[in-house]
Amino acid sequence: MFVPKRIIFEKDALNYSISNQILDQFKDKSEIELIYLNSNKYKHHIPGDNLPKQYIEGKKTLIVGKKKSLKFQTCKPSAHYQLPLVSGCMGQCEYCYLNTKLGDKPFTKIYVNLSEILKQANKYIVERSPDITIFEGAATSDPIPVEPYTNALQKTIEAFGANENARFRFVTKYNDIDSLLQLEHNDHTEIRFSINTSFIISQYEGYTASLNKRIEASVKVAKAGYPTGFLIAPVFIYENWEKEYHDLLIQLKQKLPDDLKHPLTFEIISHRYTTIAKNRILQVFPESKLPMEEDDRKFKYGQFGYGKYVYPKENIDKIKDFFSKEIEKIFVNKEIKYII
Ligand code: SF4
Repeated sequence: MFVPKRIIFEKDALNYSISNQILDQFKDKSEIELIYLNSNKYKHHIPGDNLPKQYIEGKKTLIVGKKKSLKFQTCKPSAHYQLPLVSGCMGQCEYCYLNTKLGDKPFTKIYVNLSEILKQANKYIVERSPDITIFEGAATSDPIPVEPYTNALQKTIEAFGANENARFRFVTKYNDIDSLLQLEHNDHTEIRFSINTSFIISQYEGYTASLNKRIEASVKVAKAGYPTGFLIAPVFIYENWEKEYHDLLIQLKQKLPDDLKHPLTFEIISHRYTTIAKNRILQVFPESKLPMEEDDRKFKYGQFGYGKYVYPKENIDKIKDFFSKEIEKIFVNKEIKYII
């Protein structure tokens, strides 16, 4: 659960019940600064005279405000639309794509006009009906750490569970999922856990849940009958990588029940970076040990017009071969969605 250092309420946010619940929860806690804005200009309330400090302070900041534009972004190929419940995340993963996406705004923002957001989602569902519409709830955030403040996932899972044409999916590196276990999801929500070896988590994934906690949470959601999956990303090639990823898969197998209602899904993504991301990461984490040497990588043009540095083909082939064989061998009821 995210415990912020400061909470900034945007103008008019307190017209919504979620904001008032947050205020009630924190108004007597003197260690947490509460800021009420008359305009929606918040940047000067987040201290820090250089990027690393602004990043750290931003990550400790919760903004409570309204989602103004209700035109949802598309989210191909995994879903039809992003569902804007939250943006940003308390985690401090060095390689996180939010470092470039959110730039100097690394704070978490909760959208309090949830009923308007769900109403808009319903419009998209009706437009596409009778086809199914899939929404992604973690395109610009990890929604779990702020769920206790908003119950946004809970309300979404219930609303989409009751709608034949709606599907929902999100991914998390956290474990605070108990409030979701008893919901009537009707198999319409897929919960995925982003996992990695303990070595990679301890090196690069600051302020996230430990591997054991993520696995425990995945066992609970699988037992609650949710379609459950694992995103193993980013995969790094390092000393002992094969043994450590093998042990990770074995640990999953040992802890998950055998009688799963749905096949376990796997999405595997090898590490890659853009020049913009590398520059940003090194500004925010000057001591970062993330392997980002162009000489060890191959430049590949991406579908969005910018290129990325990926592992050379022989290493990508090794990753594909390793994960497809291991998953095939270890799991019975499973589906590998992709390995890239
Ligand atoms: Fe980014 Fe996910 Fe880490 Fe949050 S938990 S910082 S969204 S990679």
